[in-house]
Amino acid sequence: MIEREHHALAYIGLGSNLEAPRDQLERALSALASLPLSECVAHSSLYASAPIGPQDQPDFINAVAAIRTRLSPLALLDQLQALEQRHRRIRERHWGPRTLDLDLLWYAGLQQNTPRLTLPHPEMSRRRFVLEPLAEIAPTLSLDGETPLALAARLTDQTLSRLHD
Ligand code: ATP
Ligand code: CA
Ligand code: CA
Repeated sequence: MIEREHHALAYIGLGSNLEAPRDQLERALSALASLPLSECVAHSSLYASAPIGPQDQPDFINAVAAIRTRLSPLALLDQLQALEQRHRRIRERHWGPRTLDLDLLWYAGLQQNTPRLTLPHPEMSRRRFVLEPLAEIAPTLSLDGETPLALAARLTDQTLSRLHD
């Protein structure tokens, strides 16, 4: 595991639409808080969104978390994928239903494009279910010079609702 000397701030997008999605997300949020060399500094409310891609599947529950970590981007991705596996995620079709999806959205402003990891996540600026939760915990974050809420304002054709506690 590659350790860094300094902490990096990272944002993680969570999604689930199978097997009690709210529970999946609550459990994933506590698991994120105990990742090695990391601390969870904030997380958004939970949201419900209509699926992207195939429509014959349940709505998703989404949230975004902020962590401070000394894991490298790839070591963090390893941890996120291991956590998906612990939630018994089975990969079937692309954009199909899943018990837990953890996307590394943004890592210390780093930009990279490798087979395993693209940063920032290439779709984040086009997804309301990412941008609105992100706006709760990172309202001034600059994504190509725009705030999450400014980007989300153009995506009102996508269905999203914030869940009450
Ligand atoms: P999308 O990426 O459009 O949200 P998805 O989450 O359904 O789709 P997955 O099947 O979860 O896609 O992931 C496919 C691959 O994407 C992973 O094996 C991973 O290596 C790669 N990947 C590239 N960049 C990232 C990133 N920023 N966060 C998470 N996975 C990434
Ligand atoms: Ca995803
Ligand atoms: Ca993913």
